[in-house]
Amino acid sequence: MAFYKDHYQVIIIGGGLAGMACALQLQAKGVSDILILEKHNLPGGLATSYVRNGVEMEATLHEMMSIGPKEDRLKVGQFFDEMGVDIDWLRVPEAYRFVETEKGIDITLHSGFKKMAHEIEKKYPGWGRKVYDFMNLCNRVYDSMNYLSTHQMGKLKMLKEHPDFVRTLGYTAQQVLDTYHFPEDVQDILKAYWIYVGNPTDTLPFTIFAFLLADYFRGGSYVARGFSHEMSMKMERKVEEQGAQFEFCQEVTKILVKDGRVYGVRTKRGDEIHCDYVVSGAYPNRVYSQMIEPASEVPEGAIKVINAKKLSVCPVSVMMVLDGTPEELGIHDYNIFSTNNMHMDELWANSKTLGPYHYLTSICLNLANPDCCPQGLTQFSITALPLVNAFEGVKEEDYFALKRQLAREMIGTYEKTTGIVIHDKIREIEVETPVTVSHYVGAWKGSIYGYAHDMQDHVVARLQTADSERFIRGLQFAGAHGISGDGMGPQITNGRAAAKGILDSLKEEK
Ligand SMILES: Cc1cc2nc3c(=O)[nH]c(=O)nc-3n(C[C@H](O)[C@H](O)[C@H](O)COP(=O)(O)OP(=O)(O)OC[C@H]3O[C@@H](n4cnc5c(N)ncnc54)[C@H](O)[C@@H]3O)c2cc1C
Repeated sequence: MAFYKDHYQVIIIGGGLAGMACALQLQAKGVSDILILEKHNLPGGLATSYVRNGVEMEATLHEMMSIGPKEDRLKVGQFFDEMGVDIDWLRVPEAYRFVETEKGIDITLHSGFKKMAHEIEKKYPGWGRKVYDFMNLCNRVYDSMNYLSTHQMGKLKMLKEHPDFVRTLGYTAQQVLDTYHFPEDVQDILKAYWIYVGNPTDTLPFTIFAFLLADYFRGGSYVARGFSHEMSMKMERKVEEQGAQFEFCQEVTKILVKDGRVYGVRTKRGDEIHCDYVVSGAYPNRVYSQMIEPASEVPEGAIKVINAKKLSVCPVSVMMVLDGTPEELGIHDYNIFSTNNMHMDELWANSKTLGPYHYLTSICLNLANPDCCPQGLTQFSITALPLVNAFEGVKEEDYFALKRQLAREMIGTYEKTTGIVIHDKIREIEVETPVTVSHYVGAWKGSIYGYAHDMQDHVVARLQTADSERFIRGLQFAGAHGISGDGMGPQITNGRAAAKGILDSLKEEK
């Protein structure tokens, strides 16, 4: 029997979260003739785990946004529920603890606008009310963004019904924060999540910042009991149950194009498979520079667009299994953002280097998922998110020494900041870098967050230019390089957007 059919309606390159969300959305709308080609031997891409010495270790997920509690699901949680992908979500206990050593700031915030405003009020009397107002502004922008992502609206109506969204659209996070005249400490505390979008607040669009803050502080954040791998395995099962063909260890090397329209793909193994639509999990940079066959079908505009995009951050993550329970080790926080100071220009300059990194996030998985390790052990990670360019010049022969040096520095900084000693408790350790990411999933230069969200490449501008940037008919992209950008939650949205692109074309072509 032939391995592949002669023709599929849709071929999806990559079985990451975005690719699988795209497949689920297409299936929900009646498109079932789908082939997913995944180069790795597992689904999920970066949403994965690995085993060291009998202990399963989470490879990536710190916290998942847009899930929400069962009785009040947010967008992504709703999607999983509606698709029948039943994830055992566990709520992360706090939003974050923020430690800034230069000014001696040390505060823990929990989700709930009132609650976090009250926590700030307790340390900075007189400012809680204003923080609450600010969070409500973020929340209104959040609601508008969610509404406008699925509804077309004229300018006048938008102005009338979404005034805060329109009013703040042209401003950076910093510009809007400045209008509140918060004390510097309060501003610093509110900016702690900046790293999750990988852009300093003085160039980060307020809409993105508001979305992030409102989502995390409104619905809290979640992890899956079976790690991010649980999402991947359950999505894959559902996609296959609903009739899609999912093939592993099949790398797509070429996308076949004729007269400006896709007609198939070629795999590394040499199979040529035909289809009407291709959804690419591979970055546009790779697609337009290496994958379109023949190369003469690469539109000039596409090259201009990829050259104009700025890649966002990539991870340096030190992942450990520690001897001892969190209690024995003195670890009481799920998530600490720590830094020497919050001077954005300095932090940004630091993120362009090979360390030592100043802005770190440390995660103790046990505190959200108590059964994540055998008893008596702790699963713990420390992560910095530098820019991809920092790693471009690293020579192969220096790579392993660099990884060890980064791990030592990051553990040292964590110990100095918190007073918690972990270096003599390490049972297992892995260090993940952009090189790991690039090697494992093929993400362009190891970027995990796609393209930087800044005022020149704003999510709203991306929505407005999306049609004119669809250069090859029948080709959609689904991944962190999509309109919604980074993170696992947004990959669900990016996958659904790719599905919508195909569904719209199908309607037009009828
Ligand atoms: C250390 C770390 C921590 C993170 N923490 C969080 C977090 O706490 N919360 C959060 O939301 N996000 C987090 N992320 C980011 C998140 O993992 C990614 O943004 C997201 O998983 C990207 O999903 P994707 O579908 O775009 O791509 P990927 O996960 O990269 O999936 C792409 C898939 O396509 C396959 N593929 C690529 N090219 C081809 C080809 N040519 N042929 C066949 N298959 C191909 C790859 O093998 C892969 O399976 C973290 C990432 C890292 C590395």
